[in-house]
Amino acid sequence: MMDNPDHPLHETVLGRQSIFSQRLFQIQCSTDRFRRSFLPKAIIIFKVKAAETMESTRRRPQHHANGKGSEAVEKSAQWGRAWEVDWFSLIGVVGLLCFAPFIVFYFVMACDQYECSISQPLLDLCQGKATLLSIWARAPSFTWTAAKIYAIWVSFQVFLYMCIPDFTHKFIPGYVGGVQDGARTPAGFINKYEINGLQCWIITHALWFANANYFHWFSPTIIFDNWIPLLWCTNILGYAVSTFAFVKAYLFPTNAEDCKFTGNIFYNYMMGIEFNPRIGKWFDFKLFFNGRPGIVAWTLINLSYMAKQQELYGHVTNSMILVNVLQGIYVLDFFWNEAWYLKTIDICHDHFGWYLGWGDCVWLPYLYTLQGLYLVYHPVQLSDTHAVAVLLLGLVGYYIFRSTNHQKDLFRRTEGACSIWGRKPTYIECSYLSADGRSHRSKLLTSGFWGVARHFNYTGDLMGSLAYCAACGLGHILPYFYIVYMTILLVHRCVRDEHRCSSKYGKDWRRYTDTVPYRLIPGLPTSSPIAPEGEEELPVSGFTHCQIDKQLTVNGNLEIFMR
Ligand code: NDP
Repeated sequence: MMDNPDHPLHETVLGRQSIFSQRLFQIQCSTDRFRRSFLPKAIIIFKVKAAETMESTRRRPQHHANGKGSEAVEKSAQWGRAWEVDWFSLIGVVGLLCFAPFIVFYFVMACDQYECSISQPLLDLCQGKATLLSIWARAPSFTWTAAKIYAIWVSFQVFLYMCIPDFTHKFIPGYVGGVQDGARTPAGFINKYEINGLQCWIITHALWFANANYFHWFSPTIIFDNWIPLLWCTNILGYAVSTFAFVKAYLFPTNAEDCKFTGNIFYNYMMGIEFNPRIGKWFDFKLFFNGRPGIVAWTLINLSYMAKQQELYGHVTNSMILVNVLQGIYVLDFFWNEAWYLKTIDICHDHFGWYLGWGDCVWLPYLYTLQGLYLVYHPVQLSDTHAVAVLLLGLVGYYIFRSTNHQKDLFRRTEGACSIWGRKPTYIECSYLSADGRSHRSKLLTSGFWGVARHFNYTGDLMGSLAYCAACGLGHILPYFYIVYMTILLVHRCVRDEHRCSSKYGKDWRRYTDTVPYRLIPGLPTSSPIAPEGEEELPVSGFTHCQIDKQLTVNGNLEIFMR
């Protein structure tokens, strides 16, 4: 195809060489890299566009009831990040890149300077009582002490992750650890992961308690005492990791066939290019950054807040204990099920960019722990009834969250040969086409919580999130940020997931949504992104049988032959 100068693929290849990528491309790319990485990607984009053009021509006269053309539905049905970026997304991306660090700063500063009032700083600014500069000047700045603490912390987590293979699975019954397979990537790779998160969490916390009770190397309030200076360090790491992953994707991608380029550097930077960037065989960016500096830290941060309450007021409130316990259960659950996490959307569908890199380093540890921070400034002692109600809400939410995830996992692992709620599970048989045009079979569970609503795991998660917030009483809005954020996150995720499933399973997904009509809340019907009856769905990748003559993997290279 490349030998034929009139072949339209040339246009796509040239179009892909944006000024930036062309420069990188020329410095770095050998003929081999061109053949192995750049060209297959260009071919994929070319074919997706060809598929879209053909489909839109075929379907042009048909329009959905909501006025959207089928092409729009198909484009939105793509999972994960897009191939092309519209202006609206671009503005959102640039806005987030510029302002997200200030959103985090605003919340932390509001606690530090305004006793956790989120309206007062704005009122002061409007009334001229404060200026942005005066607020900035009052905020503690970067310190070398914080930099040392953070460097030791991250290095220690890297050491635990890389140097101590999991041994806990050998003596904890039922725990799945050690080397595990991830899900198949779009290019067909199955990565291996060393699952040792639970072990890292246990060692880290054992050391924390040993220090607090015996060694006294540092104060247990160390995290709270350096909270804003640490924000600088987490941001430095967050941006450094995202930038490294971005450059790495151009220069030395781990699996070039799994990269996704749009030609827009801001979008590429934010949503990521590489699917599973790694250094060496085992250092997996997604698994490490999501789990280790962020989620291991979550419970330590809460413990530091608890220690600060004790230091300031001489006692710890029941609300602080509730927040520690409920969030502790959630974190432990995450590590107990780390192998299961390899099959979730984060690992299976999202690319690694600023969104995950910076999010894991900064957004997660700072904004997921706002309740504990708030309780240091406002030590709320709940009535027994309130405390029990919060505990029940949190535990019921957790039970639903865990059981729902477990039911799907069990069902898929055993291919339906299991028992759910004491009965043989019911399900819908479905089929889908993969990128190579092959047909596969799958099953959608309609028993247990998956028969109650299509995303009841999210509902349980939201109940738990509400419990953390409700533990802080009704004095301020700030601790409720978490439930607002989680609602937006999970509703958006639910919609994205349903677009993807609708695109993947087509009519079978329609049968499923007819059987289980509710998305998150039983009794609350929702419209679903289902393609109208009679329309053929595109397979997941946007390829159709008719356009692919042959797709072969020769010596590890993707070769596509077109009619
Ligand atoms: P799910 O675990 O719900 O997985 C969705 C996928 O499951 C679908 O894409 C589909 O994949 C498959 N599926 C959908 N319906 C069925 C069915 N009826 N039977 C069998 N399989 C089905 O989503 P996530 O990975 O997003 O979430 C995992 C957990 O993580 C959730 O509990 C969520 O609450 C939590 N979470 C927490 C976050 C936090 O920040 N605290 C953030 C994000 C998630 P397939 O293609 O295989 O059919």
